[in-house]
Amino acid sequence: MRVAQIGSGTPEIAVLAGVHGDEPCGVRAVERLLEERPTVQRPVKLVVANENALERRVRFVDEDLNRVFPGDPDAETHERRLAHRLVEELEGCLTFSMHSTQSYADPFAIVDGVDETAARLCPQLPVTAMVETENFAEGRLMTEIDTIEVECGQQGSESAAQNANRLMRAFLTAVGVLPGDTVSRDLPVFRLTDVVPKEPADTYEVFVENFTEVEAGAPFAAADGNEQVADESFYPVLMSPYGYRDVFGYAAEKLEVLESPAAAD
Ligand SMILES: [Zn+2]
Repeated sequence: MRVAQIGSGTPEIAVLAGVHGDEPCGVRAVERLLEERPTVQRPVKLVVANENALERRVRFVDEDLNRVFPGDPDAETHERRLAHRLVEELEGCLTFSMHSTQSYADPFAIVDGVDETAARLCPQLPVTAMVETENFAEGRLMTEIDTIEVECGQQGSESAAQNANRLMRAFLTAVGVLPGDTVSRDLPVFRLTDVVPKEPADTYEVFVENFTEVEAGAPFAAADGNEQVADESFYPVLMSPYGYRDVFGYAAEKLEVLESPAAAD
């Protein structure tokens, strides 16, 4: 774990990158900010989490860091020990955690639930949607630390790195670390309702677009050519053929559209 700070005093804001070692976009954004060392209006902590996994360019060394919070200092696995140290490091900080996916190119935000902070800040980020994990947050950092996660784009892509930089700066502006104004936009909110399992197979396909409604009866994915059909309509989220080992992704319901005050007239 690498920890740095810009500005003096005790930070209440943190930016977190590299929770997953095969998602370098956030690390680049953090490194760029550290090189620039902008003048800040309040201090911010910058943390690069899983350096061991980043060096090896793998999602994790022993197990998925974002499934093992709160962690354990005496655990056998690298990620459980790291989770414990991360919680200590981020305690008291509203944390902006940058990820990337194999499922969707446009940025979106992921929160535990839509509280006042999320409802105020997420419409100021350049994201196309906000996702509430609610019952599917177990083991994630957001169960321990007040966290806004963002998915910045396709893993390893140049556009994900650029998005991470834009997202991080919009967040830091919205919370008053960086000077200036943000742009607000209307933001659709989705809530995860189910995991979408996948059977062991050699090849997987996904036929649907994330955040676009799948109607009941429609085939949405296949394992070795065997189609899976939707029992009822749902919105796919984080769904991809090979992004996760044993699930395609998640099913969600659409809740509401948060209207930005500027766009309300
Ligand atoms: Zn990730």
